[in-house]
Amino acid sequence: MANSKYSYVKNFELPDPVLPDTFMLFRLDGHSFHRFTDVHGFEKPNDVRALELMDHAARSVMEEYPDIVLAFGESDEYSFLLKRSTSLYNRRESKIVSTLTSLFTSCYVLYWPKYFPNKPLQYPPSFDGRIVPYPAEKHIRDYFAWRQADIHVNNLYNTTFWALVQQGGQTTAEAHATLRGTFSKDKHEILYSRFKINYNQLDARYRKGSILVREDEPEVPESQSEARSEAQAPEGPTTGTTTVSADATPSSVVLTEPAQPKEKKN
Ligand code: ATP
Ligand code: ATP
Ligand code: MG
Ligand code: MG
Ligand code: MG
Ligand code: MG
Repeated sequence: MANSKYSYVKNFELPDPVLPDTFMLFRLDGHSFHRFTDVHGFEKPNDVRALELMDHAARSVMEEYPDIVLAFGESDEYSFLLKRSTSLYNRRESKIVSTLTSLFTSCYVLYWPKYFPNKPLQYPPSFDGRIVPYPAEKHIRDYFAWRQADIHVNNLYNTTFWALVQQGGQTTAEAHATLRGTFSKDKHEILYSRFKINYNQLDARYRKGSILVREDEPEVPESQSEARSEAQAPEGPTTGTTTVSADATPSSVVLTEPAQPKEKKN
């Protein structure tokens, strides 16, 4: 069977390795979640149940793949950092992207009823996925700062937008018009003067997103563990227990410093 006259078609499959010695940054994003959140009646601007479900699915992916050292979630997206030396699936890009994306998606569906007990899924959600290889730690820091800047801009807009609609009685078209051309300070002002909302006091989860950090407890002798972490700073020791545990409920840890995704605050 393996060497049949048909097997030449296998040669059309080209290798797709991710560049060696680079950090793989894997990001997935809900497909058409504008519609999905509408159909499933998500609370606006932030449905905390959905954010917790995203965290739960991300935690499950981290449990399955020990080479993921850090994850950051916001809205309908999650980013996963793999350690630089990972040889997961021989660094085959499509294998990694497709397997991780489908695992996340099936976890999202599997755990849905835990977060939305009275709201059955109306149709199967899907996620897109991609890997971007980054050569330097600076790129990784800037990557997470970029995603966190993204949530900040979006959340400030969405919070003001929905305050105008839900509390200010504006139509969505009117709210968009009110916000057209406004700067960040104008939105803070609208929130505070018209709705008595102090933006900076909103739940940090909404303003800054969620982060999951793998914390390994070294079980190897000190000298070996030092040699290992010296080689690649962002990697922890590869043995030991981890905070990403199967029986715990998912917790999100909030980033307080945009440029320091490794910092964990409980
Ligand atoms: P695409 O397929 O291109 O990603 P999309 O409709 O998913 O299209 P996004 O830019 O990913 O577009 O936006 C995600 C949408 O889902 C936004 O409208 C966002 O407000 C909404 N959303 C995501 N998570 C939540 C949540 N927890 N609560 C409320 N709304 C959410
Ligand atoms: P990989 O992750 O590399 O694909 P794998 O374990 O999935 O590893 P495959 O070559 O895809 O390996 O083989 C699929 C396995 O699942 C085989 O052992 C096959 O016999 C089994 N399998 C798949 N479908 C069925 C089925 N309907 N009934 C019984 N066994 C099945
Ligand atoms: Mg998108
Ligand atoms: Mg989306
Ligand atoms: Mg998105
Ligand atoms: Mg298989």
